[in-house]
Amino acid sequence: MEYVLTTDRLCKQYKHFKALNQLTMHVPKGAIYGFIGKNGAGKTTLIRLICGLQEPTSGEYSLYGEKNSGKGIGKMRRRMGSIVETPSIYLDMTARENLQEQYRILGLPSDRGIDDLLRLVGLADTGKKKAKNFSLGMRQRLGIAVALAGSPDFLVLDEPINGMDPQGIVEIRELILKLNQEQQITFLISSHILDELSRLATHYGFIDNGRLLREISAEELEAACRKCIRLTVTDMKAFIRVLDGMGLEYNVCSDREADVFGEAEITALVVALAEAGCRVTALHERDESLESYYISLVGGGRHE
Ligand code: ATP
Repeated sequence: MEYVLTTDRLCKQYKHFKALNQLTMHVPKGAIYGFIGKNGAGKTTLIRLICGLQEPTSGEYSLYGEKNSGKGIGKMRRRMGSIVETPSIYLDMTARENLQEQYRILGLPSDRGIDDLLRLVGLADTGKKKAKNFSLGMRQRLGIAVALAGSPDFLVLDEPINGMDPQGIVEIRELILKLNQEQQITFLISSHILDELSRLATHYGFIDNGRLLREISAEELEAACRKCIRLTVTDMKAFIRVLDGMGLEYNVCSDREADVFGEAEITALVVALAEAGCRVTALHERDESLESYYISLVGGGRHE
């Protein structure tokens, strides 16, 4: 798999406090990577490091395969746009003036492309209206347009929907999906609310106390959150034979445990297993919603 960003045992220490602790993560090309963690987990710190705003204490990261210590890292960083904490926009300027200013800062030769950018983020009709009179959602979309000047193919957004109303959230979500699908832009998006990203993300990284607890694809997460019955059995081979015979969907977790999905008729299943010489020694229903999956992960991942 091709990765836009990888980090390898990245650490950022402030005196004795480890804001990032041996963090290893992988953002595949074309992904919308949801970087999930509570307030203070270390999300912004990671983003500040990869944007070159701070140096790691130890460990390393690569952008498009170029290590942070390598000569070409500056060039790779120009392929990246970002919004760290709040969008970098001038409130006394219109949307167009903000983009003109960004073009000037980047040294882009002409204003060509500004109209397209304004259309892309849905701000083509804002005319003389200054950014200070924009809604939060409009400001964030303008921030994204500013981050898109220079045509990056990797966008890093730090809590882009924080504090936004439902309408603003929908607008940002749709814009991110559009940029990902139509312009093949890879995203790294941090959030402390898993649910907000669950309709967008193709991959997730869960961070807590500076450590990456788990990396998981959206499909894997969905499977992990499906309703199922966890059975503990005495004979896994017989279990597999019976389940295959009954046409039931299952997933073997260990040599004693398996999850059964769908609407299984429990009595018929247990009887069929008993007839095949396989006893069920424990059985419980599992119904992990995304949020409880996250809580069980964070709760189970305590450390020093
Ligand atoms: P939030 O959503 O609240 O911004 P976050 O996951 O982005 O949370 P960070 O901003 O990365 O968290 O902060 C991680 C930890 O590092 C926090 O406990 C914070 O107080 C600490 N921290 C960040 N910058 C510094 C600094 N310059 N000096 C000391 N501690 C810091």
